[in-house]
Amino acid sequence: MTTGKINVTADNIFPIIKKFLYSDHEIFLRELVSNAVDASQKLETLSRVGEAKGDIGDLTIKVEVNKKKKTLTIKDRGIGMTAEEVEKYINQVAFSGAEEFLKKYEGKLDGKEIIGHFGLGFYSSFMVANKVEIKTKSFRQKASDSGAHWSCNGSPEFELTEIKKKDRGTEIILHIADDSTEFLEEHKIRELLNKYAKFMPIPIQFGEKEIDVPTGEEVKEGEEPKTKKEKVADIINNPEPAWVKKPADLTEEDYNNFYRELYPMTFDKPLFNIHLNVDYPFNLTGILFFPKIKPNVEPQRNKIQLFQKQVFVTDSVEGIVPEFLTLLHGVIDSPDIPLNVSRSYLQSDGNVKKISNHITKKVADKLEDMFKTDRADFEQKWNDIKVIIEYGMLTEPKFYDRAQKFALYHSVDGSYSTFEEYIEKIKPNQTDKDGNTVILYAAHLEGQHAYIEKAKAKGYDVILLDSPIVGHLIQKIEGENQQVKFARVDSDLIDNLIKKDENRVSQLSDKEKENLKTSLEGAVPKEKFTVRLEDMDSSESPFVITVPEFMRRMKEMSMTGGGMFGMGDLPEMYDLVVNTNHPLSTKILNEENDESKSALINQALDLAKLQQNLLHGKELTNFIQRSYESLS
Ligand code: ADP
Repeated sequence: MTTGKINVTADNIFPIIKKFLYSDHEIFLRELVSNAVDASQKLETLSRVGEAKGDIGDLTIKVEVNKKKKTLTIKDRGIGMTAEEVEKYINQVAFSGAEEFLKKYEGKLDGKEIIGHFGLGFYSSFMVANKVEIKTKSFRQKASDSGAHWSCNGSPEFELTEIKKKDRGTEIILHIADDSTEFLEEHKIRELLNKYAKFMPIPIQFGEKEIDVPTGEEVKEGEEPKTKKEKVADIINNPEPAWVKKPADLTEEDYNNFYRELYPMTFDKPLFNIHLNVDYPFNLTGILFFPKIKPNVEPQRNKIQLFQKQVFVTDSVEGIVPEFLTLLHGVIDSPDIPLNVSRSYLQSDGNVKKISNHITKKVADKLEDMFKTDRADFEQKWNDIKVIIEYGMLTEPKFYDRAQKFALYHSVDGSYSTFEEYIEKIKPNQTDKDGNTVILYAAHLEGQHAYIEKAKAKGYDVILLDSPIVGHLIQKIEGENQQVKFARVDSDLIDNLIKKDENRVSQLSDKEKENLKTSLEGAVPKEKFTVRLEDMDSSESPFVITVPEFMRRMKEMSMTGGGMFGMGDLPEMYDLVVNTNHPLSTKILNEENDESKSALINQALDLAKLQQNLLHGKELTNFIQRSYESLS
């Protein structure tokens, strides 16, 4: 038997390990199981190159809980270790690795800062165990050779003895400490295996499960085949998840099944996926799914899961993928993403930047490809994916450029156009006298119906823009296209939005106009309404309430993350536009009875409010009552 101090220079690091990342003690299981996976994969490799002789047999890793003995055991049939290797790898390499890791992070461990917490390795077992044993035997040893038994009770001293061990491989036995008994609960271990090991590349068994197997007995026609219950090993992982396979070998159903494997609680099918596969200048595989995202509905945040060689790392990928893509679902697997570093470091890491750019490019490629191959299908999906694309256009300049090829503008007449096509379409008719092409848009088909109809009656086209970030997006598009202006259909009279050279004349004198204006200003609150007289055609509505484009856009932007404008909560502002040529205007002017005059004004005003969905509560009740009275 050998005893000794694991590392003579180190004081006791065990108490530090024990305290390490209090909330993340569970990491130990991932570390130990992935060590077992590594050892098994190494053996596979050695066997392939002929260094490990003979049949290596079944490599299934076993995880076992023994509540009575208070132990948790992880058993593999990998390369194993000789006693010398235990000395070297466990006492020296692993220890100094853990020590270095802890020194680096001591004092600044708030758990969130370190992605994945890779690095602590084998010694993380002391976060939950007061004694750890290793029973191991190298694949190079003969059947008659003895194995090595290392044990350590959480002080820097260890014991190393010889034991009888038949099988090759390593068994790690954790004697769970009294404050960590949750790790003796089967459901807890199952949950953790499911979280960290669900897609690890070697089969992992945790207990047994009962399944129905056919007995093979003959059955009469129409009868169900007979089955009997049988206990089989419960393999908790899928060692070959879809993302490690070639896209050519996968059907759409395979992708959908994988989606369900990733998010068992989700019933929606994804719309489509992007299979990532890069090996230069960095390694990256993965599958990203586009979910259905409805405008104005909080998107379901099935987070993208980050893996390192099939070992789960984290499901918060901010800083690794561009922000707009965090709305996607799926997995990313890369050994090239530095994992035990802070997020701020990650964001400035060159590799991560490249990865992020690459993913953006792949997403753009896929969208462009879909648009080109089946435009009708792409148009059908547009409403469900536009939020992600519009968000990407807003936040990633490169994506904005790429999206010119596939971002669509949806006319209320039902057609879809790219920006270029759309400008081409409306330019002849919707260019104003200053040479600006005006894109008329509506945010709501029902709510802005009257205004849309007005525009259509003039022969103009209207597009539907109803994502929450539209304000920001059109601001950006206008910035990129100097001669293009966006105007919401209700932001002014159509003839003012697209000004053509026309001479308008009024039937009212200046004095009469003055009078009319004064009467109306008395009927609406000053801070909310600006009264404007316009000499329109007599067939146009007498009163129209409009929402000036600029102020409304600023207000919308300040509400959807436009803090940079620093304008806080902006007030609602409306214009009351009065048609001087409408007979009602003359009637109001000529009415001498004050009461009747104000009745006329109020009724017309309420109708204008109704059209803009501004008549509510008491005002609405009064309006209805008044209208009924006028009927009887
Ligand atoms: P890392 O896995 O990052 O190298 P660890 O502290 O987890 O660090 O392990 C240190 C070393 O101990 C490993 O590199 C390996 O050589 C050895 N080791 C740990 N677990 C096993 C195992 N189950 N089978 C064989 N060797 C192992």
